[in-house]
Amino acid sequence: TDILKVKEVWKTYKMGAEEINALQGVDFKLEEKAFLAVMGPSGSGKSTLLHLAGILDLPTRGEVFLQGKKITELSSKEQAHLRRTGIGFVFQRFNLLSQLTAEENVMLPMINPDKKKARELLDRVGLEGKYDRLPTQLSGGEEQRVAIARSLANDPLLILADEPTGELDTANSQMIMELLTDLNAEGMSIIIVTHDPMAAEYAHKTVQMRDGKILD
Ligand code: ADP
Ligand code: ADP
Repeated sequence: TDILKVKEVWKTYKMGAEEINALQGVDFKLEEKAFLAVMGPSGSGKSTLLHLAGILDLPTRGEVFLQGKKITELSSKEQAHLRRTGIGFVFQRFNLLSQLTAEENVMLPMINPDKKKARELLDRVGLEGKYDRLPTQLSGGEEQRVAIARSLANDPLLILADEPTGELDTANSQMIMELLTDLNAEGMSIIIVTHDPMAAEYAHKTVQMRDGKILD
């Protein structure tokens, strides 16, 4: 079965009188346990595609199916629930709340806040014993590991990562990609957007975007 299906999707941004076609007829399917890297020049539509896959935004034309559900036919409440339970987001700049500890950051998105589970997730990303650290007391690599633990808070089937190694040095980038590889081996589907060829090597498949289209 497909976790994600994107069918003839267009995304047009209107800026005053000007229209920008950020996506121009994108088609792809993501099977269960897939690990896909999306590459391409700046402005080619990678983030827009990731946002549509994560129901952070809706297509202007075409359809997005997540776990077999047609996104545009869901109410905004149903969309929000599916986003929260079905998808884990990882960002370039980690996006942790600076006044909260690692454990509190992981608990934050939980549908059923559970301290024990937050600690288990932190253990899983190699942060045993660092539950009470604030983001400023962690290295960049550790912060991204907290962000990955947070993305797993509601047991998603799909992780969407936008430049997850963009702010990290080589050693930490490799650590983060190995962690994503382990999660993929455990059954999670993953899409990363990246400029980093080293990061893309960990994916099972790479697609290139250009001018709002996936090149084949
Ligand atoms: P990438 O992630 O590959 O750099 P984006 O998806 O961010 O590309 O952007 C694709 C195009 O859409 C670019 O021309 C960008 O300027 C435009 N764009 C993206 N988001 C918006 C927005 N919210 N409003 C207007 N234009 C946007
Ligand atoms: P950048 O690509 O500049 O590093 P991010 O990857 O942090 O930016 O965020 C990309 C987009 O995702 C932003 O437009 C932001 O509105 C959105 N976003 C960031 N964090 C969240 C979140 N926790 N939930 C929903 N949307 C988010």
